[in-house]
Amino acid sequence: MAMISPEAHARKRAALVEALRASSQTGSLALDKPTSNLFRQRVQEPRQKLDVRDFNHVIRVDEQARTAEVEGMTTYEELVRETLPFGLMPCVVPQLKSITIGGALAGIGIESSSFKYGFVHETVLAIDILLPDGRVVSATKDNEHQDLFFGFANSYGTLGYALTVTIALIPVKKYVRLRHERYSDPETYFQALGRICRDGRVDFVDGTMFSGRELYITTGEWVDEAEWVRDYTYRHIYYRSIQQKTVDYLTAHDYLWRWDTDWFWCSKHFFVQHPLVRWLWGRKRLCSTFYWQVRNRFNRSPIAQRIAGALTGRQELVIQDVEIPLEQAPAFAAFFNREIGITPVWICPVAAYDPSASYALYPMTPGMLYVNFGFWDAVKTDHEEGYFNKRVEATVRELHGKKSLYSDAYYSRDDFWELYNEPAYRALKARYDPTSKLKDLYEKCVLRK
Ligand SMILES: Cc1cc2nc3c(=O)[nH]c(=O)nc-3n(C[C@H](O)[C@H](O)[C@H](O)COP(=O)(O)OP(=O)(O)OC[C@H]3O[C@@H](n4cnc5c(N)ncnc54)[C@H](O)[C@@H]3O)c2cc1C
Repeated sequence: MAMISPEAHARKRAALVEALRASSQTGSLALDKPTSNLFRQRVQEPRQKLDVRDFNHVIRVDEQARTAEVEGMTTYEELVRETLPFGLMPCVVPQLKSITIGGALAGIGIESSSFKYGFVHETVLAIDILLPDGRVVSATKDNEHQDLFFGFANSYGTLGYALTVTIALIPVKKYVRLRHERYSDPETYFQALGRICRDGRVDFVDGTMFSGRELYITTGEWVDEAEWVRDYTYRHIYYRSIQQKTVDYLTAHDYLWRWDTDWFWCSKHFFVQHPLVRWLWGRKRLCSTFYWQVRNRFNRSPIAQRIAGALTGRQELVIQDVEIPLEQAPAFAAFFNREIGITPVWICPVAAYDPSASYALYPMTPGMLYVNFGFWDAVKTDHEEGYFNKRVEATVRELHGKKSLYSDAYYSRDDFWELYNEPAYRALKARYDPTSKLKDLYEKCVLRK
């Protein structure tokens, strides 16, 4: 896909606003876009669909200023494709190619550079937001819409839609040298993780917990030369290499997408980690976008679901990303391994980039290092619906952590609003969506509307 000129973008934007204002359709407003990484099933009801499928281009890359201006539904795959030729990348690139800049900004986006740069929304400089009444406002850190700028993260499309986003970029080198270091107890592991992040000598830090006795920290450093370069886009599987190698080299491009080929490890549900199935499946279809298509087809087929249910028995999906303060991370790991037992688990350190900035709906304690635990699987259950997710929610709360809202949530209304800053949200809603044309955050993220 080619870049789009600012003039062509402006024309599209005017047409979108016109369509929104002219529409006589009733019902709440929703986005019509081709991909999604939202794991929660939504209630199907009549909605006014806003066709934003074409808002998926990079508008410009400014090499000198190290910024990019992009349309809100541009995928990170597209964004990276346009910035790498300039020797630049977004400060934080979420691991799945189909995640869009708008989705990562209105949700919460994180990757192995987050110990330096924070979440995706902290690397954003300006957002043009389409409000439900058809107005478009530009929000920056210090203009009259700074409340919306700092309130947009974790608003999940309930305040307005990002049509254009300006983000900061950082320089890249040709290769990333990886080092996988093994630990056998969580206490030592999280101490080491904190030390490495504080030292700040490496460019990337993440980790993988295969069990309470087998944990790895993976660090990455930009290098111009590589002794060898591995390819994990077809025959070899990246997450397995963590257990097999101490040092490894990837191209900058392959490093950014190292988790996409096997959807971290979730490709096992499609049996494609078996060499023969992998070969038959083909390189092109080894990507998160294709797994989503298969999953969506499965979700639409009651017969397939009945067969799967008969084979696996009753299960609960436990698909979540949570942030826990570093000091509490061993306690969370112990709880998780004892009560939930999903393996592997992705570990990613994150700290606020600018301690003086506060993002109203997802505030981080300044100067505190958090550990993101990402777990995406189903567990066998004979409990009531949501039992394991509720245990996760309660433990995250006890340990003063935070939970992303892209998947199932079970909070009561009161608990939810205590955690996600009701006064700030109500003030934003009153100013930017006074007639509630967009769903309320609780209705959308917990009631699945
Ligand atoms: C298995 C799995 C692993 C994940 N791993 C990671 C990870 O490692 N790192 C990471 O950062 N994230 C991860 N995520 C979470 C993902 O980043 C969020 O779900 C993100 O919101 C998805 O963005 P999307 O572009 O696919 O948006 P969608 O799924 O389409 O939308 C997400 C929400 O954002 C809203 N939205 C979308 N576009 C806009 C816009 N332009 N303006 C305003 N609101 C908008 C939608 O209304 C919706 O409520 C993971 C998710 C899953 C399911």
